[in-house]
Formats: sequence, C-alpha cells, structure tokens
Amino acid sequence: MAKTPRKLLVLSTPVGPLGTGLGGGVELTLFNMAEVLEERGYSLSVLAPEGSALPRLEIQTVPGTLQDTAQSQGRQTPITLPANSVLGAMCEIARQRQSQFDAIINFAYDWLPFYLTPFFEIPVFHFVSMGSLTDAMDEVVVNAVKATPERVTFYTRTQAQTFGLNRPDGLYIPSGLDLSLYDFCATPGSELAWVGRIAPEKGLEDALAAISQTGDSMTVWGVMQCPEYWQEICQRYPQAKVTYGGFLPTEALQRALGQCRGLIMTSKWVEAFGNVAIEALACGVPVVAYRRGGPAEIVRHGKTGWLVEPDSVPGLVAAIAKLPEFNRCDCRHQAEVEFSLAAMGDRLEQWLATANLATANLATAKGE
Ligand code: UDP
Repeated sequence: MAKTPRKLLVLSTPVGPLGTGLGGGVELTLFNMAEVLEERGYSLSVLAPEGSALPRLEIQTVPGTLQDTAQSQGRQTPITLPANSVLGAMCEIARQRQSQFDAIINFAYDWLPFYLTPFFEIPVFHFVSMGSLTDAMDEVVVNAVKATPERVTFYTRTQAQTFGLNRPDGLYIPSGLDLSLYDFCATPGSELAWVGRIAPEKGLEDALAAISQTGDSMTVWGVMQCPEYWQEICQRYPQAKVTYGGFLPTEALQRALGQCRGLIMTSKWVEAFGNVAIEALACGVPVVAYRRGGPAEIVRHGKTGWLVEPDSVPGLVAAIAKLPEFNRCDCRHQAEVEFSLAAMGDRLEQWLATANLATANLATAKGE
C-alpha cells in the first residue's frame, strides 16, 4: 500500500503575501499547519506570492498580480485571472516541480487549483478556507469532493454545509495555535477587543452600535482592508469609544488582546472558522459572538463566552454585561484541549492518512 505522503508542496493564498494579513486567517492556519507537519518529520516547500515571509520554513516566492478576494464578489461573478497572474504562475511552478513531491496541499480559495487537480500527476489535497461565496467556486469545490472526497477538507461543519456538504467527522480540521506564543492573562483591564480585517462582511458596525449603548471602550486590531467602510461606520456611531490599534504581529497582538476583558465577533457572513476566537481563548479572553459559522462551533456557550442571536445588537449589549461571569482559566483550558498545535497536527495526519488509504482502496478496487 502507498505510504502517507510526506513530501508536500504547499500552495498559499494568492490574494496577498503571507505575513501581510491580506489573506486573513488562512495565513496563520497555513503557517501553523506547516510548522506542526515539519515538526513531525514531513518535509514541506511553500509557494507564495512575492513579499511573503515564513520564518523557519522553505518558501519559494512568486511574482505576479494578486487575485481579488472572493468575499468582495457577488455570487454570479465569473472566474477572473489578471494578466501576469501570481496564481497562474504558482500552478505552473507546481506542475514543473511536482516530481519532487508526494502530494500538493492547496490553501488557495480559488477556482484554478481545483480545476487543475486532475491534470497533476501527484495527488492534490485541498484545504478550503472560506464558506460558499460564488456559484463558480461552489461548482469546483463540490466536484472535487465528488471525485476524491477524502482529499478535500474544511475548518468546520457549518462551513462545509454552505456548499451543501455533510462530511464525516474526520474530514474537518479546526485551526490550532502554538500556545507557547500566547500568554494567559488572569487580570484584564476594562477594554473590549474586536480583531479582524476591517471589511463589511465582518460586521464591525454592530460592535460599534453595541458599545455606543454600553459606554465601553474598544480597540480594533486588523488589516484596514476597506478604509471607506471604517470611516463611514465611525461617523455613523460618533458616541462609540473606539480606537484603531493597527495590524500587529502575533506576539504584540496576543499581549494587547490578553489585557482585554472580552473579544466581540460580529461577522455578517458564515465565518469558516475565526482564528481570532481561539487566539482570544488562548489568552484567557472570553468571546462574545453571533451564533453563526465557525465561532458558534468554537465558543462554549455560557462557559468560555456567549453566543448571541445573529445581527442582534441588544443581544450583544446583554452578552457584554455577562463577561465578568466567565472564568478566564476555562477559556485558556479550552484552547489547550481543543486548539493546540498537537491537536491540529493529529487531525492533519489523520486526514492525510485517511485520504491516502481511500486512494489505495480505490486503486485496489480498480485492479491497479
Ligand atoms: N491578525 C493579526 N494581527 C492583527 C489582527 C489580526 O495577525 O492585528 C490575524 C489573526 O491572527 C488571524 C487573522 O488576522 O489569524 C484573522 O483571521 P480570522 O480567521 O479571524 O478571519 P478572516 O480574516 O480569515 O476572515
């Protein structure tokens, strides 16, 4: 029987260089997954847009024009590739280098690598990092699942359901963190936190509406993806005591976040996962989130945070009042049990082994 693939070529997100935050949570997920696999004896090489930084891991950076982010597009948006496409170049390099690897792991939420999958000579595994956003993307994701179900994985059940897919338990890989980089903070200050890309699908306006009523002050950290949106909502809620703290590297982010008495998550879309939720828990910070998407699978309602009826500002206001009731040790404990690098590494290895076994069984059934 074929051995589990150990030499892996990783395709990064083509919407931004790794380390800039333009790619969102998948940047941290990719980094942590690559780290844990290396630790466990796999050898990885990452293909990523020019300007990417990935400490300690082998990386080949690729010049070219970045892809547009899928979340800014309508459902009927056709597939587009710009001239001098970085994604096209990454796929071409993957084709040329494939004989040096056992498999490709694709993190690009984009049509091209899914479409090209049967054209590669080595298996392509897909880590799908967002929920359903466009019809064209849905089609290739669902087709990939039909062709080789075990080779496609998702963060969460609710995310897969947005594609109309219900998958067996082993085929979800919630994110994980190097918890040694996140300090537990037992005694927070009075500030609330909101962390994420500043973009409409993240629903920051609801957090501003809530703090306008409670009088709390809140710091916002994250990439300023839509400055006009930020200005518009700040003008809409002039009473909100909100400060923009910039986009911080993990070390500084966790230090600042740990001092906060709660993280507020107000996504308007089905968040595939929500790395910031587990980062907060790792620092001992309880999470108030809408009961929608990944955060609803992460937060232990009433223990490590509070899940609020989606889009309900009064619900947020009531949940903020509950923050002192949560034990910050429980938050850290949940992160240690469910979202450590080791826990994610186990899930990843199980995925690679299961997919490999399924391929071997298929080959046997075909008499190959
Ligand atoms: N982030 C960061 N510095 C900041 C704010 C955010 O590095 O100042 C990172 C954070 O660690 C997380 C990502 O931005 O990994 C946001 O990911 P999330 O999964 O929460 O949402 P997405 O952007 O993918 O929708």
